[in-house]
Amino acid sequence: MALKWRGRIAVLECDTCDVEVESDKGESFDEFTARRKALGWTADKVGKTDWVHGCPLHKA
Ligand SMILES: [Zn+2]
Repeated sequence: MALKWRGRIAVLECDTCDVEVESDKGESFDEFTARRKALGWTADKVGKTDWVHGCPLHKA
């Protein structure tokens, strides 16, 4: 769900609160995914195409 793009920067927003995590310039989406997982962010698939995201505090 809460995946947004600001130009080429991917932004994920926690579905429980308003915390966001952004990809870095030049970081691939896979690298961003690995980094946010390492930070404790979680993603859960809902249905076939939707995701819920959780910050390290809330979890998805
Ligand atoms: Zn949160």
